Amino acid sequence: MQKLGLPCAMEDGKPVWAPHPTDGFQLGTIIDIGADTLTIEPLNQKGKTILAPISQVFPAEDDVNKHVEDNCSLMYLNEATLLNNIRVRYSKDKIYTFVANILVAVNPYFDIPSLYSPDTVKQYQGKSLGTLPPHVYAVADKAYRDMKVLKMSQSIIVSGESGAGKTENTKFVLRYLTTSYGTGQDIEERIVEANPLLEAFGNAKTVRNNNSSRFGKFVEIHFNEKNTVVGGFVSHYLLEKSRICMQSKEERNYHIFYRLCAGASEGIQQKLHLSSPDNFRYLNRGCTQFFANKDREKVIPQNRKSPEHLKLGGLNDPLLDDQGDFNRMCTAMKKIGLDDTEKLNLFQVVAGVLHLGNIDFEDMGSSSGGCTLKNGSGPTLEYCAELLGLEEEDLRVSLTTRVMLTTAGGAKGTVIKVPLKVEQANNARDALAKAIYSRLFDHVVRRVNQCFPFETSSNFIGVLDIAGFEYFEHNSFEQFCINYCNEKLQQFFNERILKEEQELYQKEGLGVNEVHYVDNQDCIDLVEAKLIGILDILDEENRLPQPSDQHFAEAVHSKHRDHFRLIVPRKSKLAVHRNLRDDEGFIIRHFAGAVCYETAQFVEKNNDALHMSLESLVCESRDAFVRQLFENSSNSKDSKQKAGKLSFISVGNKFKTQLNLLLEKLRSTGSSFVRCVKPNLKMVSHQFEGAQILSQLQCSGMVSVLDLMQGGFPSRAPFHELYNMYKQYMPSKLTRLDPRLFCKALFKALGLNENDYKFGLTRVFFRPGKFAEFDQIMKSDP
Ligand code: ADP
Ligand code: MG
Repeated sequence: MQKLGLPCAMEDGKPVWAPHPTDGFQLGTIIDIGADTLTIEPLNQKGKTILAPISQVFPAEDDVNKHVEDNCSLMYLNEATLLNNIRVRYSKDKIYTFVANILVAVNPYFDIPSLYSPDTVKQYQGKSLGTLPPHVYAVADKAYRDMKVLKMSQSIIVSGESGAGKTENTKFVLRYLTTSYGTGQDIEERIVEANPLLEAFGNAKTVRNNNSSRFGKFVEIHFNEKNTVVGGFVSHYLLEKSRICMQSKEERNYHIFYRLCAGASEGIQQKLHLSSPDNFRYLNRGCTQFFANKDREKVIPQNRKSPEHLKLGGLNDPLLDDQGDFNRMCTAMKKIGLDDTEKLNLFQVVAGVLHLGNIDFEDMGSSSGGCTLKNGSGPTLEYCAELLGLEEEDLRVSLTTRVMLTTAGGAKGTVIKVPLKVEQANNARDALAKAIYSRLFDHVVRRVNQCFPFETSSNFIGVLDIAGFEYFEHNSFEQFCINYCNEKLQQFFNERILKEEQELYQKEGLGVNEVHYVDNQDCIDLVEAKLIGILDILDEENRLPQPSDQHFAEAVHSKHRDHFRLIVPRKSKLAVHRNLRDDEGFIIRHFAGAVCYETAQFVEKNNDALHMSLESLVCESRDAFVRQLFENSSNSKDSKQKAGKLSFISVGNKFKTQLNLLLEKLRSTGSSFVRCVKPNLKMVSHQFEGAQILSQLQCSGMVSVLDLMQGGFPSRAPFHELYNMYKQYMPSKLTRLDPRLFCKALFKALGLNENDYKFGLTRVFFRPGKFAEFDQIMKSDP
């Protein structure tokens, strides 16, 4: 018997999906229905029962081994049937699945034979969505055809958590479009070959992904009026700067550092004074040795000076081929047109940063409270100065003292040099290293963009590869920015998916109710509103004479005391287990879940400016390339007023501006979405961790889409298609009718329930699964 409030089809004896801690869901049958819980007998544990809240139990398809290319052709659209469909398909190496027009892509962690072969590329060219198996090429081709037909730029938004396959899918899209719709000239090759260079400087090994992009990017391929490729443009977002000086356990710094140490020629190694990565502070801390000591002895030759040793330090990662990757990167550099001088310029700065990191300080031991460079640092200072085009003495002074402007005693504007403590000097060194490297990365992107210039373009297809919603044990400014970005993208996703659906219903004259969804504008406002938004509160803190992370957290709480989206840590389970106080953090209720942010270092991480002493140091470098890196920085032109003050360049607000520009751009294009899914934490093939995957589907908003579809009419077929498909089964009297009337008569004759379908102007719309059901009747009932 069906109980009130239960979704239809959930009754005693029917198969249902009940929650399971590791698989996500397990199949079972309802044996008792309570007020808000169900008693369920799992299928594979006869005699046992489990209790589950009604809201977490979903009707199952009759045949759970069946899989479909478009998830909307299932009868029951819910998170459990989606997960099951993806699971069954994944077990057959079918990693792509459509949910209407949204592509879900599971990372296979192995190369599926011919999935991306040139033949496959050819197959997808010019084919409508749905005519071939789901594929990222189908999405790419739809974008291209839409651009051509609608004469409108397109964007493909690729999202997912780290290691889900965003970057790989992005590359497949770029390669597909450039090879299919290019002119066969080297501009297309350059667009593809720019990637190894960007990845060398912007990717790193993390615990989640051996080749993790630590920046977001939007790659535009531009087309002329004949719809052939004319050029490209890359925009980048938020390079992770903290990684340059420090990495978490078992993570690495950016690839380039290790590749340079492992792969550069003897001559370059000598010129740049390089040796094994083990010898550099920015590479050897945080990172545990990849070989146990015993194993190392086997691998590392006894002769410590041998080039073999240089190339195989303890930080050598057996999973990565730094030497081979170095050579591949150099080939890519050549292909995109970087000459040897440019290449050496890049390497020189990279090496300069490494040597800078090795500079150590020690207490002067006098009452002055200052510090000096540690004895025994060897020629580190000399190497660093040489590679960055600085005077040794200037570098030493800039790192150990700070220029201050006195205002006391009427002696207005006197510049004095204040000695720094060891810790302050360490910070100064790291700040300088981060500034140099992040500007080097900006330069690499700028340089890459010069490789595929175009004069005019009619339209573009842009691919967005940016980190998805994330929350860790500890969440800092980086997660705050990423999740803010994902709120904006989710809003865009809602607008597009729900709006398009409603527009279609309207155009077809279907009198269906408007679909509702949770608007997250309040969460976006909490972050970006003028003055009272968290970003502006943070900037205000940064501008105080003595900013503090605690004071910032308090300000956030006091300005948003009763905000629905903001929670005080004290009252939350999320923060209690690590004793987080109100002035140490805040919790935001994001669309994908609540995240507790620890505000320590927010102030520091929000500032992109260098102290004047360091800024002027690099701006006056002997080396034209280093000078050029800092050329257009906003405080490079020093003035007396600025001396002594740490001028402030807001990281958060820069990101906000970039993001709003990006969204403006996305809103002006047609859009497609690719939701990437990571199948397991071990990063191995053929392992489907259901619960993990389910949570990713929930975070990406897919579950809301299913809710929308379940309440709407996700399957649709034009009248003439139905007519052609089924006329053979009908008496000739019926087939003389026009397609629309034919369908009406047919449905009436079959006695279809009128709630299951609706007639639009050009097509019939079916409730979930009803089209498949109808199709079955037609084919089995002669
Ligand atoms: P993300 O950019 O989402 O962090 P990546 O695209 O870097 O993740 O993918 C992580 C790794 O997973 C890749 O280095 C590759 O080994 C593997 N991978 C991802 N997508 C595929 C695919 N379609 N086929 C084979 N391997 C893949
Ligand atoms: Mg990536």
